[in-house]
Amino acid sequence: MLNEQMFEYGSKSSVIRELFAYGLERKKIVGEDKVYDFSIGNPSIPAPSNIKKALLELLEEPAEALHGYSPAAGEIEVRKCLSESVNRRFGTAYTADNFYMTVGAAAALSISIQAVTNPEDEWITFAPFFPEYRVWVEQAKAKLLVVPAETENFQIYFEELKKLLSPKTKGIIINSPNNPSGVVYSEETIKRLAALLEEKQKEYGTTIYLISDEPYREIVYDNIEVPYVPKYYPNTMVCYSYSKSLSLPGERIGYILTPDEVDESQRLRAAIAGAGRALGYVCAPVLFQKAIARCIDTPTDIRAYKSNRDLLYNGLVSLGYECVRPQGAFYLFVKSPEPDAYAFSERAKKYDLLIVPSDSFGCAGYVRISYCVSEKTIKDALPVFAQLIKEYQ
Ligand code: PLP
Repeated sequence: MLNEQMFEYGSKSSVIRELFAYGLERKKIVGEDKVYDFSIGNPSIPAPSNIKKALLELLEEPAEALHGYSPAAGEIEVRKCLSESVNRRFGTAYTADNFYMTVGAAAALSISIQAVTNPEDEWITFAPFFPEYRVWVEQAKAKLLVVPAETENFQIYFEELKKLLSPKTKGIIINSPNNPSGVVYSEETIKRLAALLEEKQKEYGTTIYLISDEPYREIVYDNIEVPYVPKYYPNTMVCYSYSKSLSLPGERIGYILTPDEVDESQRLRAAIAGAGRALGYVCAPVLFQKAIARCIDTPTDIRAYKSNRDLLYNGLVSLGYECVRPQGAFYLFVKSPEPDAYAFSERAKKYDLLIVPSDSFGCAGYVRISYCVSEKTIKDALPVFAQLIKEYQ
């Protein structure tokens, strides 16, 4: 007898993956350049050249050390390097102990959730949200509650959040810059959230954790500042990854940062180590731990994403599509011209335009367009988007 829940997770592939697989098949039939695939968030900017240089240098090191296990939390020297880099940027005073290296943000999130959750606890997140949150929360035997989107500007809908907070609330998950809306939470939003959570912690006599899921932290445009969340709310765990900032999604490398100011910080770190152990996520890929340490302050090259954003956003808006202007990440969240976003996505598919209906992000009636593609794909796709919207005019 299988675990039916696991069977369900494994057999219901995500809409994004289905569209992506469909695109690969279509390309074989109609040709690469006739399919406009905006389905997946795979960085289109190559990893920086110093990563390759670091890897080549590392490969000269003795194999036993290079390919051996590291401590479960990651190499101490690497974590020290992470702490110094974060301290330089955010004026903090972290040490290696504040960092636990992980297999990407996915492991960082699942470990953080598992580390603090007891059965029947509740987590809250904000639509639109990264669909895997539900899997990780359910896996920890807790419930995910979703605050509906505030579709005016996709900041937090505080009135709705207040309705969901209760003594059962174990934590809140935020993601800014956001996948799929591209919105960055303002300092005002973070301050308001922090004040509300402080107030509720006092009222309930509980700890409410704030997980800040930040794989897109460096991908921001127009000199927008991404507030450094632990400065505003001490009970924060930051889940970071190099998947997007250094274009290394396949290498599976990231970290959890737990500041000393978190309640019971020593015990929390032990629980994080325990959750890593329980989930089998110990000792993140060592070659890439070391490569990251050598390239620690490499700036993220966002030029291609920025020009893609401008080209696609301006193009679509001038055609009559409605969309919030993204300030970060590499997604556009466009209002479906018909209420059913699945139907719209299916109609787009007839033009070989692959765009993701938003229902799985907990916010029906939109499509997500990933613009981490070539400029040519966007230029070729705009006339096709024009034909598509004509069907509704
Ligand atoms: N969180 C968000 C919002 C994401 O978009 C992604 C990946 O697309 C992840 C987490 C997982 O990132 P990683 O590839 O580092 O596991």
